[in-house]
Amino acid sequence: AKQEGKNRYRFFAPEINAQASERLFMANSLRTALDRDELKLVFQPCMDLATLEVAGVEALVRWEHPQKGTILPSRFISLAEESGLIEPIGEWVLREAARRVREWKNAGIFAGRVAVNLSPRQFRRSDLASRLLAMLGEAGLAPRDLELEVTEGMIMEHPERAVVVLTELVAAGVSISIDDFGTGYSSLAYLKRFPVHSLKIDRSFVSGLPADRNDRSLTRAVVALAKSLGLAVVAEGVEHAEQADFLRRIGCDFAQGHYFSRPLDTATLGAFLREARTQ
Ligand code: C2E
Ligand code: CA
Ligand code: CA
Ligand code: CA
Repeated sequence: AKQEGKNRYRFFAPEINAQASERLFMANSLRTALDRDELKLVFQPCMDLATLEVAGVEALVRWEHPQKGTILPSRFISLAEESGLIEPIGEWVLREAARRVREWKNAGIFAGRVAVNLSPRQFRRSDLASRLLAMLGEAGLAPRDLELEVTEGMIMEHPERAVVVLTELVAAGVSISIDDFGTGYSSLAYLKRFPVHSLKIDRSFVSGLPADRNDRSLTRAVVALAKSLGLAVVAEGVEHAEQADFLRRIGCDFAQGHYFSRPLDTATLGAFLREARTQ
């Protein structure tokens, strides 16, 4: 038994240490990432399923680490959230997204909206709306050029505060969409209380389409729900023509996914927009 315990210790400990020191390393280098210009945005087109035009783009952050290469947000957003670094990072994302969209609009190749993901900590700030609107003004964008993606969890963390912030943003012309719809809060009652414009069906419900019976039922139900509430529906993670066909047939308005385009760096998106039909 003693032998076994020793082996177990030797088996697990290095892994745990490696994880902990990896997190520590990431936390420390994330602090300097912004100053060193290591963050980049990529943009994924959002397609109108009826016309196959580009309706908008979603900004997604990447960390181009000088040693480790491209680091995806799943590996650093939660770290940034815990440390508070998400505030300057989130602010940078908004400014940078606005700046790029201004360029594409100036070039006459894009007329849609840019969607930006908000983090829980950003959403908690009572001055979110005023800061955001000021930043849009500086970038030369109108509030209607911006869509904010929030999750059910972020709204339900403090519904009274959320309704105030969202109402202020929506009154100014910003659109709100519920990201990862169906994966979070289990009640739908909040939908009638909050000024939201669209639901984004999570990839986990799209991946089984069109073969999986449950995924077919769930996506149909979300589309019907959205329609009856007067909301637009976006499907994320569309990877195959059959998924796009099914979604279009059931009345889903918009879709994003590798089938249409992966998230693209700014230069490649510029080329994509020049080729694509835009609204
Ligand atoms: P999300 O908002 O649900 O973004 C969609 C994710 O799905 C993106 O991953 C995108 O690259 C990926 N994706 C898009 N189409 C497909 C597809 O057809 N198949 C598959 N398998 N994946 C697809 P990404 O860029 O790694 O971002 C992951 C998450 O990180 C995002 O999920 C979002 O919650 C968060 N995130 C990204 N950028 C930001 C940001 O600027 N701020 C904040 N707070 N969160 C961000
Ligand atoms: Ca999103
Ligand atoms: Ca999503
Ligand atoms: Ca998702």
